[in-house]
Amino acid sequence: MRMMLLGPPGSGKGTQAEYLIDRYRIPHVATGDMLRAAVREGTELGNRAKAIMDRGELVPDDLVIGMLMQRLANEDAEEGFILDGFPRNTAQARALDAQLEDRGLGHVVALEVPERELTKRMLGRGRSDDTEETVRNRLTVYHDMTVPLFEYYEKAGILRRIDGFQSIEDVAASIVSALESTG
Ligand code: AMP
Repeated sequence: MRMMLLGPPGSGKGTQAEYLIDRYRIPHVATGDMLRAAVREGTELGNRAKAIMDRGELVPDDLVIGMLMQRLANEDAEEGFILDGFPRNTAQARALDAQLEDRGLGHVVALEVPERELTKRMLGRGRSDDTEETVRNRLTVYHDMTVPLFEYYEKAGILRRIDGFQSIEDVAASIVSALESTG
């Protein structure tokens, strides 16, 4: 199963991924987590990414795409993966399609959550990039850069919209039924 979780920051992608990795036994590949690890470790990539992440902007495509492709080449991703936070724009989506070739992504699960709820959730998380100004900026970047992916994946026929404003268990059940009803 090669799937991607699409949705605004705070929509529950990470929480749902935790559940899905258990069920499907495939790795959770989250570019935000990878970048935060790089920042903690003080790698060259981390040092370049930190200020950009703190502003809530997107890290340049070449850096993120390189990091992601290396990760997908790992043996543990052979049977599938759950992408979270990538792609974030159309250029990244095209790079991913080119890399996966005919295997392609099987499913894109879009979590839909009202904006006021997103802000509330993010400000309650206490991450260093969850300050009020950064949160606002991340939502703007999401609308400008990432929302066009709905159309991209709708056209590809693999987009499944899920109501993300339910309990964690109900969102998980909705995702599983969407994945399993479409094969
Ligand atoms: P996330 O944990 O997915 O919300 O990501 C946290 C931050 O990491 C984002 O606000 C971006 O600055 C950066 N980031 C994560 N994934 C990507 C990506 N695919 N492209 C560019 N920047 C990213």
